[in-house]
Amino acid sequence: MTTPVASSHTAGPALPPLPALLTGQTAIVTGGNSGIGAAVALALAQAGANVAINYVVGDDAANNLAAQLTGLGILAKAYKADVSSEDQVAAMFASVIADFGTVDILVANAGLQRDAAFTQMTLAQWNTVLGINLTGQFLCAREAVKEFLRRGVVPERSRAAGKIICMSSVHQVIPWAGHVNYATSKGGIHMMMESLAQELAPQRIRVNAIAPGAIRTPINTEAWSTQEAYDRLMTLVPYGRIGEPEDIGQVAAWLASDHADYVVGTTIFVDGGMTLYPGFATNG
Ligand code: NAP
Repeated sequence: MTTPVASSHTAGPALPPLPALLTGQTAIVTGGNSGIGAAVALALAQAGANVAINYVVGDDAANNLAAQLTGLGILAKAYKADVSSEDQVAAMFASVIADFGTVDILVANAGLQRDAAFTQMTLAQWNTVLGINLTGQFLCAREAVKEFLRRGVVPERSRAAGKIICMSSVHQVIPWAGHVNYATSKGGIHMMMESLAQELAPQRIRVNAIAPGAIRTPINTEAWSTQEAYDRLMTLVPYGRIGEPEDIGQVAAWLASDHADYVVGTTIFVDGGMTLYPGFATNG
């Protein structure tokens, strides 16, 4: 295996935002107060969208981000709701539609890990991860689709009646010992996304997924916060740097825009090559 360049390779200076491709549209970003979700919320706002920031615990982070995004000249507001609760999800969508008028984009991003060796894994750990990561996306997607179908295409805003982006993971294809609940939830998202995309494409609803690799967020601090851990992580990343939340935000903004209008039912891997079997880089 080649020697990784480790932390000497960074993402570099901030990129200019994409053009305002989402002006006048409203997006809900679940788990939008932290990590990847916060970067997606920012990128969508920079692209001109109004943003509803969903969260469940972190009130301050959600409200602060809403204030920051409002400063960009769009509408932004925080909505507390547990995405694994049918009632709370329905109430959140009703509030967002009352406040913003409609919903054009859902980024179903909320997710967590509850790791354990398989025989130690409790039913509660299994159900929590499946309930939030997978059922949460189902519940949010269902409410979004009802609104997309009610409203239909508004050509001045978008060629599509609505866009759903499911936040998956490289673990929709890479098995992950010690994280069976998490990998199962992401494998489920993969097939849910493709089946939904197939069912809804005739209604001009685009459903896609983003599968991040290792992104620097609170979910995986132990994988990047020490040099030793970072170096170990880099053996899995051919591109030689950790992903930053902005790497996902920019892809999400493009994928939600009409520049991606013919992208339907696809998973975009944003992983620095993690899914390229790096162990085979030196002939296996
Ligand atoms: P994070 O910083 O820990 O963010 C997780 C977000 O999910 C938080 O905003 C959290 O809100 C929210 N959340 C958790 N339970 C919720 C619930 N029941 N209802 C509503 N929101 C809930 O982690 P992240 O890395 O940004 O993860 C975001 C997504 O990316 C997840 O789906 C994760 O699986 C996926 N992903 C991450 C990586 C990575 O390397 N970071 C790689 C692949 C995929 P509170 O703060 O209010 O609890």
